[in-house]
Amino acid sequence: MPKILEGAAISAAIKQEVAEEVRALAQRGVRPGLAAVLVGNVAASEIYVRSKVATCAELGLYSDLITPPEDVTTEAMLGLVAGLNHRDEIDGILIQLPLPKQVDTKALLDAVDPVKDVDGFHPVNAGRLQANRPALAPCTPAGIIEILRRSGIAIAGRHAVVVGRSDIVGKPAAMLLLHENATVTICHSKTRDLGAITRQADILVAAIGHAGFITPEMVRPGATLIDVGINRLSTREEFDRFFKGDAKRESAFQKRGSTIVGDIDPRAFALAGAYTPVPGGVGPLTIAMLMANTVRAAKMRRGL
Ligand code: NDP
Repeated sequence: MPKILEGAAISAAIKQEVAEEVRALAQRGVRPGLAAVLVGNVAASEIYVRSKVATCAELGLYSDLITPPEDVTTEAMLGLVAGLNHRDEIDGILIQLPLPKQVDTKALLDAVDPVKDVDGFHPVNAGRLQANRPALAPCTPAGIIEILRRSGIAIAGRHAVVVGRSDIVGKPAAMLLLHENATVTICHSKTRDLGAITRQADILVAAIGHAGFITPEMVRPGATLIDVGINRLSTREEFDRFFKGDAKRESAFQKRGSTIVGDIDPRAFALAGAYTPVPGGVGPLTIAMLMANTVRAAKMRRGL
């Protein structure tokens, strides 16, 4: 039977550690603070940001939710970020993506002070990560390493194949796996004969953004499968493609009118040695690592 890598339990353990650290910092008069910037009214972004702010409260961090209007300009956003860079009670700045089209996302991410860049998206932090110097690493990839480590899955010497090369997930995940001494292959949309490569993976990380893209034939039996994808299925046809006959999913689908599938076809999980489910695998780690990064940023900025 494959081992299920329960991200929710690992996330809870990390959050507990963060809360303990927050309590210890309070004794020294330090309260880590996060500013969350949510532009406009994208429903998914609102859910993510509100749960980040709620987690701050739960763990004892200070937070400030800033909600500029949908038609905000790049200049106004740059002014806002400059203000946050200077506010002493703010240790981490999170700008929820995607931003509206008129806002220059790269200019904005580059304007965040790298010591407050808790998403790890600033080029300085990307460079530090590449050079294997202590850095604020992007939260989802850092969460992947925590899942592997805390589940006792060896990384050193194994062949890790990462499908996806985004700056947010694929590239930093590959870099972190490399620093853990995996032999790493990065694949993307121009990769030829993808299945031949994924079948060599001891650890397969899928961060593509296509529902069930990695099929059972693309997986080596016994591999560890890390599924980063979050894809919503809202039609009966989409649902039946992956979950026909799955009673538990069916009742959830009936209740909510949709369900979520990752970038790995769930039928591939039966072949795995271990896998992260969707939902409940990689997803919960992202917020936990954001909290951990905010505390880390608070300590780094004060030289603690
Ligand atoms: P991006 O769209 O930025 O990147 C997708 C990557 O997949 C690209 O590098 C692209 O290649 C590659 N790709 C696309 N099609 C193919 C293909 N046919 N064959 C091989 N590679 C392909 O997505 P993100 O990295 O931001 O996100 C990936 C997934 O992870 C999404 O489902 C997203 O929702 C999810 N996600 C989940 C998070 C979590 O907390 N669990 C956090 C962040 C993302 P190319 O570069 O050549 O275009």
